[in-house]
Amino acid sequence: MLIRNTSILSFDDLSIRPSSDVLIEGSRIKKIGPNLPASGEVIDGTACYLLPGLVNAHSHTAMTLLRGVAEDVAVEDWFNKHVWMYEKNLTPHDVYIGTLLGAAEMLLNGVTFVADHYFYMDEAFRAYQQAGMRADLSWAAFGVGPDWERAHQEALRFTEQYAGRDSRLTISLGPHSPYLCPDEFLRASAKRAQEMGLKLHIHVSEEERQVTRTVQERGMTPIELLQRTGVLREGTILAHAYWATDSDMQLIRESGAGVAHCPKTYMRFGDIHDFLPRALQAGVSCALGSDGSASNSTINIFEAARDAALLAKCATKSPQVATLREVLGLLCNGAAAGLRGYGRVEAGAPADLVLIRPDTPNMQPEHNVFANILYSLGESNMDTVLVDGKVVVRKGRLMTIDLPELYREAAAAAKRLTAAVSGTPMQTY
Ligand SMILES: [Zn+2]
Repeated sequence: MLIRNTSILSFDDLSIRPSSDVLIEGSRIKKIGPNLPASGEVIDGTACYLLPGLVNAHSHTAMTLLRGVAEDVAVEDWFNKHVWMYEKNLTPHDVYIGTLLGAAEMLLNGVTFVADHYFYMDEAFRAYQQAGMRADLSWAAFGVGPDWERAHQEALRFTEQYAGRDSRLTISLGPHSPYLCPDEFLRASAKRAQEMGLKLHIHVSEEERQVTRTVQERGMTPIELLQRTGVLREGTILAHAYWATDSDMQLIRESGAGVAHCPKTYMRFGDIHDFLPRALQAGVSCALGSDGSASNSTINIFEAARDAALLAKCATKSPQVATLREVLGLLCNGAAAGLRGYGRVEAGAPADLVLIRPDTPNMQPEHNVFANILYSLGESNMDTVLVDGKVVVRKGRLMTIDLPELYREAAAAAKRLTAAVSGTPMQTY
């Protein structure tokens, strides 16, 4: 396949490489240069910009089915009194439908890779296979609660059964968090991940009170706890780490773990903090995440980047922090999601690519195309998306999923979940 005559954007140095052809062989980029010979399908990239596929480093994708169930509520009530009432009734088929809906939304917004942390992940696996999306799947595992051992066995069964099955879909271990997993559980997860050659994906330090409580009760921060138990290491995805201390930042940087920053969720909960400028200053590898749609509504990484920039500027009361280059650099940072070398347009890289069209009113004129991308771009600017060398979005249309049928299924699932909500909360975390 050949993408002909396009302008390649680099977020590393905010440069543009005009009039370039990109030759794709199989699932990888073979060559980039002017006037390359056509081979197979030719996609006309004239009047488009080409960029690497976007990375969503932390998602609970199937929670698309819970979009809008808990609005304008206190953070303490959000899960126990609202989200859990719906989530406890999710079936494996709901996870399939919800994941398919999320994958559709992501692909139509240029996201080619997601690190998904949820349950019934065999159903999520099936959805990503169908959608043609790249994903890392971890079955969320808890070390507390009445049923944790059975649930944990299920997570391990999934891991053993699915690891290595599909080169596009990798498997990680997903201990939920230091507050829902005792130390022994975390230690065992880290050990098992090492034995199986897998990575880890975990929540940590998302709220200030978690950090102060752990310091009071344990004499260390949650990040320090992850270090002691072996979870903090290269390739681990730390979801949030939003209230990491300055010394935590050093530990994260030295470990080679990455952070998934989910600004829209923090802002929804009224939690303004200067995590991002401090993390960038400390050299922490960060990418953006969507978290679940019950708190984030959308799964749109361009929007997450915009929110990240605005949140950082507000938190520090400084318009000079979170520069274009810093924030655009988060969009495709595969390394922060355990995928080294991902998110680049270069020979040998996976052919996960996005073509955007700037010929819409919101993107004109082009004093600074990078500023337009961060602060103005919309879904209507998506032209073509490739994953693993295959076209999944063509001229703004998703090729892999029957959307009207999917909307009907999602509506039916939402109706059933709403009907099932009754009585009092059953879970208190
Ligand atoms: Zn999360």
